[in-house]
Amino acid sequence: MAPSDAPTTSLPNPYYFPMARIFCVANQKGGVGKTTTTVNLAAGLSKVGQRVLVVDLDPQGNATMGSGIDKRTLELTVYDVLLENASISEVRQRKDSVGYDVVGANRELAGAEVELVELERRDQRLKTALAAVDAEYDFVLIDCPPSLSMLTLNGLCSAHGVIVPMQCEYFALEGLSDLVNTIKQVHANLNPALKIIGLLRVMFDPRITLQQQVSEQLKSHFGSKVFDTVIPRNVRLAEAPSYGLPGVVFDPASKGAQAFVAFAQEMVSRIDTM
Ligand code: ATP
Ligand code: MG
Repeated sequence: MAPSDAPTTSLPNPYYFPMARIFCVANQKGGVGKTTTTVNLAAGLSKVGQRVLVVDLDPQGNATMGSGIDKRTLELTVYDVLLENASISEVRQRKDSVGYDVVGANRELAGAEVELVELERRDQRLKTALAAVDAEYDFVLIDCPPSLSMLTLNGLCSAHGVIVPMQCEYFALEGLSDLVNTIKQVHANLNPALKIIGLLRVMFDPRITLQQQVSEQLKSHFGSKVFDTVIPRNVRLAEAPSYGLPGVVFDPASKGAQAFVAFAQEMVSRIDTM
């Protein structure tokens, strides 16, 4: 809904957001499902009528490729946004096949890490750039790299919250403490709006007892911060990126796609309490 269509009544309308909700998908552990979560949540949100921008903040460019954009042929990327060579309006690409806009990334972004160190407001670059477009979206999802680097810091400084995908494995809780501490520090010093929105259990296999146990541990530690939706391990989600599509678009009937659409609905319904 465009801002001008905002209802005049004072009743809260869950579908009217004056500005985009900006979320980082982060976990410093590699290969836990951040990019899969970013592109499938984006596609799921688009499916339920939300306007979505995905920002790829990882030099691997997996969210870019997984949204059907060839990272090798990009002329402008998020690197140009961070160095203030270009605006998001100039960099973003619309992919009708996936239903959301993308600010792409490629390996050039790895250089930004070093170049930003010299610059002023180095952790606020993405935030400033997003402010110019956030009224055009309901959700902005930022796919973070597997590190707590200057790139991730730019994501955390821009966001209202963090979505943490995690596998229910033995060391999962241990790995979480570094991320939680970083989020606390950013909250205290750089971005008071930042909080953990929720932990998303991904690649879940209910037949594995250990996964059930860790899932229960997560719920007892983090309570309502654990999303109700659980993403199952599903091969269609893993196959989809090679077709340049999120699983939600590639095979909407698959269990994985259905779970991500349910997760998108959970996000929309939780939005008023965030
Ligand atoms: P990185 O830290 O390298 O950025 P990541 O956290 O973004 O990784 P993904 O790339 O999303 O993780 O996922 C890692 C691998 O697991 C990929 O091959 C992906 O296709 C696969 N995968 C992710 N989620 C699922 C799932 N629910 N079921 C099956 N395979 C999955
Ligand atoms: Mg990734």
